[in-house]
Formats: sequence, C-alpha cells, structure tokens
Amino acid sequence: MPQKENRSLWITGLVEHFLTHSPLNNLRNKEGAPAWDEALVGFASGADPLFQEYKEYVGPFHWTPLEIYNQYHPESKATPEDLTVISWVLPQRKAVRAMNRKARKFPAEDWARVRIEGEKCNAGLRAHIAQTLTDEGYPAVAPMLVPNWAWVKSKNYGYASSWSERHAAHAAGLGTFGLCDGLITPKGKAMRAGSVVAKIQVAPSVRYYNNHQAWCSFYVDGSCGKCIDRCPVRALTTVGHDKETCRQHLIASSKYVKKTYHYEGYGCGLCQVGVPCETRIPVKKAREAYEQGELPPPPPPLA
Ligand code: SF4
Ligand code: SF4
Repeated sequence: MPQKENRSLWITGLVEHFLTHSPLNNLRNKEGAPAWDEALVGFASGADPLFQEYKEYVGPFHWTPLEIYNQYHPESKATPEDLTVISWVLPQRKAVRAMNRKARKFPAEDWARVRIEGEKCNAGLRAHIAQTLTDEGYPAVAPMLVPNWAWVKSKNYGYASSWSERHAAHAAGLGTFGLCDGLITPKGKAMRAGSVVAKIQVAPSVRYYNNHQAWCSFYVDGSCGKCIDRCPVRALTTVGHDKETCRQHLIASSKYVKKTYHYEGYGCGLCQVGVPCETRIPVKKAREAYEQGELPPPPPPLA
C-alpha cells in the first residue's frame, strides 16, 4: 500500500498505465489510432468548500463528494476530510484537432469517433481506477458511472447534472472555465475529463488561479472571443453559452455523421479548436505563472 506522500504518484501512474495499455484507448478508425493524448491528473479534498459552492450555485441535486460516496459505500464511514476527488483531463490528439479545425459546421470523422470511442475509454478508466482503489483498501466510486447520475434542468445553469466532471477538474487545479463553458486546462480546452471519489487522503493539487474564469482572455481583459466566430449555430455570444442551441446542434450532427462517415456518433467541438485556448492557457501572464509554479494573488474582497 503506498505511503501518503506517494499516493498521487501511484494514482497518476494507474491512469497513465491504463491509457498506454488498455485496448479501449483506440478510435477504431482505419489506423487504429489512440483516442487520447497523455493525461493530466489532479486531486481535490472532499472537504474543499468549492464542492459546497457548486451545490449552492448549480442546485441542491449536485452531489458533494461525501453525498456520492455515502450512497455507494455506506459500510465504510467517512468524513469529507477522508475523501479525495481524483480528476483527470484527456486531451484530444494533434491529428484529431487538426481535422476538426477544418470543420465549418459538423465535426470531422475522428472527432465524432472520440466522442463515442474516447468516452468508452474514459468510462473504462473511471471503472478501472475505482475498482483498483477499492481492491487496495480505499473504497471508491465513479460518480458518472452510478445508475442514479442524471441530467437535471437547473434554474441558474440550464442543463446541469448530479456530478460535473469539469467542475471536479476545476476543484482539482486542472483549469478554469472559458466563455464557451469549456474548461481551459494547461493542455488547452480540446479535452474531456473524468473523476473518481475515494476514501483516501492525497495532498490536494495547487490551484494556480484565484477565480473560475482566470484563464480565459475574454474574462481577463475583454479580448479574444474567437470561440464565438467558430460556433456554426451562434450558440456563443459575449454573454456566454446557449446550452439549448448547442444541444440541438449536437443532435443534428448525428444525421450528418451517419450519412457522411457511416458511423453512429455525433459531436461538434468547433469552438474547442482553431482558438487561442486549443492547447494551452491563452492568458500569457497566467500561463507563465503556471509554468513557473507561482501562486496568483488572492481574489479581491467582495464589494
Ligand atoms: S477562445 Fe478566447 S474567449 Fe473563447 S474560451 Fe478561449 S480564450 Fe476564452
Ligand atoms: S460545441 Fe459547437 S454548437 Fe456547441 S458552442 Fe461549441 S461550436 Fe457551438
């Protein structure tokens, strides 16, 4: 059993090993190319106040780590401090991003494949990490894999869910939200995220930001807005992301994907590529601070 200080390395190694060796990390295209690039892994304490804030902001249906843990491991009592949220970011590969950069309305074939095959891999990774930790004596649950995970219509948020992978990743130091709602990570916004909640104490990752939009140029100084121009259905404006219009376009994309690629899939992600946050933190100061391990100043006091 790993010592506390080695647990983050151990868990990061489990994620990396899965992605390198699992047959699930495959696009099932002609080349049999991998679905994902190298992952980023982060950790947040189950007692992090951000989880309570999500609950209050998104809605009471949004689980805290303790709420989801207690549902599936009532036999092993825990406090929020006993729990860790393990989160990972799976970046899109260069070739797939390049293909989708050329797309003008509907996704490139491999982008649509990532949405299906890549998400199967992500689900397999969630199950693998939860099972391995549980087998090693650290009871764990993958919130996205439980049968009562659900989409919920939220007053503040439009479509929301019982557990958000992007919000877990934000708490685990892996990124901040952009104008388009995507999470801008140190490897950019073209990615998907996954997570597991486990009864294990791991040192939380540092958050190199002091607010949830600190890595989007638009929110920092009003510049950029390039994702607005990339959206084929005007679901993005300077006031943010119209989730319903975006959702309708995703539904419409499935017909195109089937007819054009003879593949049962869907997707879009045009706003994730061909933009300054495609593969990195676009705000120069924030990027340099992250690269040099400099903490940001504390947020200003509330007026
Ligand atoms: S493209 Fe620009 S405005 Fe849009 S999310 Fe990225 S940094 Fe923010
Ligand atoms: S995913 Fe597509 S439809 Fe949705 S906001 Fe991005 S570009 Fe627009």
